[in-house]
Amino acid sequence: MAKQTPKKSIDDKEAKSIVVKGARTHNLKNISVEMPRNKMIAITGLSGSGKSSLAFDTIFAEGQRRYVESLSSYARQFLGQMPKPDVDEIYGLSPAISIDQKAASRNPRSTVATITEIYDYLRVLYARVGRAFSPISKNEVKKLSNTEIAQFVLKKVEELGVGGANKKVMGVEYNDLQVHIFAPVVRGRKGEYYQMLYDYLAKGYTAVRVDGKMKQLRENITLTKTKKHEIDLLVDSFAVHELGDDRQDFEMRLGEAVERAISEAEGFIRVVVGEADVKEAEKAGTETEDSLLSAKLISPEDGYIFPEVEPRLFSFNSPYGACPECNGLGTKHLYGDEPCKLCGGARLREEALNIFVGPKTNKDGTLKSGVNILDLTSMSIEDAYDFISDLELTPKESEIAKVILKEIKNRLLFMKNVGLVYLTLNRKANTLSGGEAQRIRLASQLGSRLVGAMYVLDEPTIGLHQKDNDK
Ligand SMILES: [Zn+2]
Repeated sequence: MAKQTPKKSIDDKEAKSIVVKGARTHNLKNISVEMPRNKMIAITGLSGSGKSSLAFDTIFAEGQRRYVESLSSYARQFLGQMPKPDVDEIYGLSPAISIDQKAASRNPRSTVATITEIYDYLRVLYARVGRAFSPISKNEVKKLSNTEIAQFVLKKVEELGVGGANKKVMGVEYNDLQVHIFAPVVRGRKGEYYQMLYDYLAKGYTAVRVDGKMKQLRENITLTKTKKHEIDLLVDSFAVHELGDDRQDFEMRLGEAVERAISEAEGFIRVVVGEADVKEAEKAGTETEDSLLSAKLISPEDGYIFPEVEPRLFSFNSPYGACPECNGLGTKHLYGDEPCKLCGGARLREEALNIFVGPKTNKDGTLKSGVNILDLTSMSIEDAYDFISDLELTPKESEIAKVILKEIKNRLLFMKNVGLVYLTLNRKANTLSGGEAQRIRLASQLGSRLVGAMYVLDEPTIGLHQKDNDK
């Protein structure tokens, strides 16, 4: 076997250990040490014995200096030249990250969830797979795309069409059965609507349904000003047999009708199968099926409106998501304790708190809303980990949320493993002990994807419970 060259032996050593030779920084007396890589190394000693001089001012300083040296000259000009520590030689270094005990953040808004970036991932999670529930009716509010609405109508017509020529559906022979597309332009509001109805006539519409009665727009329609009305503008009507006659034409007309209805009624559409006039239907003894659908997140029952659900809706640092009263601070005054009277300390606008993940169907078939982002951040790290791990999602939601959930779980698991199970995610950063803050910032480094990074910590267990020191 060939004799190993000294070069090879250094490479070998470099892969396995960090070697410091002749360190003289501050009070260090020309010391040399070798420590294994990929291990947690503790440096202990009396106060003033040079622990920090070795860890921070020598090893960390050199790691950072080399990192800066490796950057482009363009990047370096912003960072400035770093002094070389007083040491003969160091090898086996990785990019260095120093985590000291300074309070993690002086920003009064910072929490465990925000420093660890868990909150950023939760915002994306809620925006992608969160489900909206009206705080008034407690019903789920769903938003449909135009295509989904057209498919809903198409499916209805297809179901009716399979009945056969002689079969009566809803009391009418299926061939003659009508499907009407309405724009519900007035929903339970008072007024005469004289000008509005005239404008629809001018736009080319011919019929409306006013409080359940079909009327021609060229008729003189008088409404009681002080009464609440329901006005549905007829956009198009289809006979069920038309689908079989020319499917392509049917689908095209339907698509146009859906789009027009949604645009006229600002996000709403009413699909009526059967006789649209309530009185006429009663006379003929036929059934009518009436569906009010929404292309926006607006509750059809009570009109509760959600804004676009995007990650910034869940950010108390964004004007879009912050409580408009306290601007996301949660307290009446900066650095005060008195909760904001609008959000009660929740810091987010009301709509954000009506988006939930993990809804469950109750035994009676009704839906339990699940957990909003505030509930989730009130959980301890342990409970949050269990909740995220047990989250039941549809296959489509799972696909969307896969990466996000992994990032959240990794960080929670790390904090669990370093003994911080008892902390809640909404714990204010400026109330953490030095040791807690340090571990949490270490958890946040998990996201920086620095493979083989070297972490230099100063007295990481200060301020932790004794039982956690043993971990
Ligand atoms: Zn507020």
